[in-house]
Amino acid sequence: MKAPRSVAALVFALVLPAAIDGRRAGAAQDEWATARRGMVDSQLRARDIRDRAVLAAMEKVPRHLFVPPETRRRAYEDTPLPIGLEQTISQPYIVAYMTEALQLSRDHAVLEIGTGSGYQAAVLAELVRDVYTIEIVPDLADRARRTLHEAGYRNVHVRAGNGYLGWPERAPFPRIIVTAAPPKVPQALVDQLAVGGNMVLPVGKDFQEMTIVTKTNRGVAQRKTIPVRFVPMVDRYIDKKARQKEEDRR
Ligand code: SAH
Repeated sequence: MKAPRSVAALVFALVLPAAIDGRRAGAAQDEWATARRGMVDSQLRARDIRDRAVLAAMEKVPRHLFVPPETRRRAYEDTPLPIGLEQTISQPYIVAYMTEALQLSRDHAVLEIGTGSGYQAAVLAELVRDVYTIEIVPDLADRARRTLHEAGYRNVHVRAGNGYLGWPERAPFPRIIVTAAPPKVPQALVDQLAVGGNMVLPVGKDFQEMTIVTKTNRGVAQRKTIPVRFVPMVDRYIDKKARQKEEDRR
């Protein structure tokens, strides 16, 4: 009589924790999905985001995986968040706004400048064939590459480098998005934009405006839409330590 009971106890001890663990993981998944749905409803639909494919992509991409663990619980709030190395992941609304403004179709290859966390690239990857993304901070490029791979994205190509140069080997691009603010529209990127294509980017120094550049047979046109605030698009990356050293030398 004794033996079966202990076997039962053992089975219980072995199986139950695994079951609870699994259930807990499932519940956590649900919580993230609920938070994501709330974000799409209150921050995007309730404002002016209408493109169904964009809304679906935003409801699908696990934004919490793209922010550092200590910020995770705030991942679906209506705000940009720090991702380390003095950079930020854009507010969900701005990601949706820029994605909608691009007017994407499935067969597009998109160039993104400013990979950051990789989140915007993931949203794009849900909507187009391939995403080519350039990040000037090597550590961020490495981290984003890893995050995107772990999240299952195979159509995002991350390069560490200077976005002012674009990605000439893959040009021209039908769509270009820049998620750091240059003082004016970079000419190399206009050159790498396909005829019939468009580019969405914030432009300006202290005061920035979202800008949509279109290229047709008749030439290049620019239209400004909303005021925004992005980190500057820089010419070269100087990390904190190197900058401190440079300042100390002076
Ligand atoms: N799209 C990102 C957020 C971008 S934050 C996301 O979804 O998380 C802006 C990023 O642009 C920063 O990571 C910054 O390092 C990068 N950046 C700034 N200047 C750049 C340049 N010249 N070329 C490439 N990346 C640049």
